[in-house]
Amino acid sequence: MRIGTLSVRPGQRRSGQLVLGHYPDGPIVAPLTVVRGKRPGKTLWIQGCLHGQEVGGTVGLIRFLERLDPARIEGAVIAVKLANPLAFRGYARNTPIDGINLNRVFPGDAAGYHSQQVAHALMSTAIGHADALVDLHSGGESHIVPFYALYRDDGSAASREAGRLARAAATADIWASRDAWLDGALLTHFTLRGKPAVIVECGGGGGVSEQQVANFAGALEGMARALGILPGRPPRRARYRVMDQALLVYNRKGGLFRPAVEPGAVVRKGQALGAMLDFDGRVVETLVSPNGPAYVAALPRRYMALHSGALIAETIRIVEGG
Ligand SMILES: [Zn+2]
Repeated sequence: MRIGTLSVRPGQRRSGQLVLGHYPDGPIVAPLTVVRGKRPGKTLWIQGCLHGQEVGGTVGLIRFLERLDPARIEGAVIAVKLANPLAFRGYARNTPIDGINLNRVFPGDAAGYHSQQVAHALMSTAIGHADALVDLHSGGESHIVPFYALYRDDGSAASREAGRLARAAATADIWASRDAWLDGALLTHFTLRGKPAVIVECGGGGGVSEQQVANFAGALEGMARALGILPGRPPRRARYRVMDQALLVYNRKGGLFRPAVEPGAVVRKGQALGAMLDFDGRVVETLVSPNGPAYVAALPRRYMALHSGALIAETIRIVEGG
């Protein structure tokens, strides 16, 4: 297998770089590791830090790779540890060079603006090598998300396979999304090209706990088992909570955000999610859920300072499993 700076034979583990663009004075590279089993099988592409602050997924990916033994696996794992190197170095969600949210511009464009070119490089390389894709995310610096798996439910065979992988990701919370605002996401276009893709989300708020690292590593192990890359049965829950149709909540007043529920809470329509406080400590706005019963998939961290029009919550309607 040839990818990036690497040539990897069966039974080998190699680390190198994947070129995703160019600075004025040299290549923009992502750290890349390939673990290739002695026996043939499926190839899984895993990436972290598509949003530069979301390092928890990358730490979980490193943990997962440490445990991978090329003598014991079938197929291969391709790990791109920083899918947006510029955003990582700038500790930013969006690509600093053009301010773009990279996960809204897939499939990208080899002749487009910078983020479109990065998207094209990731998408074309992943599609060219991999049978399935996992993209690791979190709430970054400002927000906290619960531990869940997300896939694009477009009714295709690839999306059904993505649903099967999501249910092996060691979480009971599954977002089977038909949401139009994910039209430019990598997982959407990977699925459209006939290959399953899953986003795993966990944590954020500027910190990474060991439990969150274990969640990411466990999700990757479960999906690697479901693909037959790792031996053993994938984790199966007796019951899953399935969500679709996210409604996003934005504040109108600036101030300090005080949450009324935890990320991952189930709320009814009209239930308070939190309040904006001014600098006399008064509540100037109460934010409520427009959706219900709904899963709260993202919330700002406690007392996060927010301007008006900041994302307060993703509330996703629960369609199965309460
Ligand atoms: Zn993200």
